[in-house]
Amino acid sequence: MSHSVDNIPHTGGTRYDSMYAKIPAVAVGLRDADWLAAELGKNTPVKISLKTNGHFLPDAEGHNIIGELKGTEFPDQYITIGGHLDSWDNCEGAHDDGAGITQTIEVLRTLKALGYKPRHTIRFVLFANEENGARGGDQYAEVAKARNEKHVLAIESDAGGFTPRAFSFNSSDAVFEKVKSWLPLIAPYGCSEFTRGGGGTDIAPLKEQLGTPLCGFLPDSQRYFDIHHASTDTFESVNKRELELGAVNMAALVYLVDKYGL
Ligand SMILES: [Zn+2]
Repeated sequence: MSHSVDNIPHTGGTRYDSMYAKIPAVAVGLRDADWLAAELGKNTPVKISLKTNGHFLPDAEGHNIIGELKGTEFPDQYITIGGHLDSWDNCEGAHDDGAGITQTIEVLRTLKALGYKPRHTIRFVLFANEENGARGGDQYAEVAKARNEKHVLAIESDAGGFTPRAFSFNSSDAVFEKVKSWLPLIAPYGCSEFTRGGGGTDIAPLKEQLGTPLCGFLPDSQRYFDIHHASTDTFESVNKRELELGAVNMAALVYLVDKYGL
């Protein structure tokens, strides 16, 4: 979960089913967890007190926010790029997933600044509700299916705003072989490895519903889980240069997919 030695709890989803009673669930810091394990290992009674104010609130309406650059040649064929807008309430969610949101907007800004007219329609999607059920991603794929849309590729950035390392592809062998031929063009920007598998929670329903090939942006992961879902995932923990380099790699990939197709 984390390589850090701090005592800051990392939160996450709690799911109940109808078979068992709803027992309270809490997250504790690593030092507290180690202490608790050591005390319990002594085989003598242990008494602790816990105070939690976690609770469920009723559902409220949320929205995906979508920008589009209309395709000049294939306006009804889509390339989706995105991240998720929501974050846990114990933190700012700067890396998870403010980084993906910022990079998505930065790719749009870059293409517009260049005056780029894409061949395919490029959708920039800020997904709602990733952390609490992925209903934004589900809805996006459902609407795409109902409209019979053709999706060329979906790219997600949801692994932090750190130095770019790789892209992972969840696709057919043929698609992977084609994108692999572009590696020498992207590697100088930082993503020096294209791997198989993965994608992203928000774009996964596109593959299920439409068979869309998926791509996950993979930055350096060494520090991500030190701050993931913890109060330390703050604005100050993001390095501007590293964040921008991620957007550079994503923009390059979007450009190549748009220019050469899959
Ligand atoms: Zn996330």
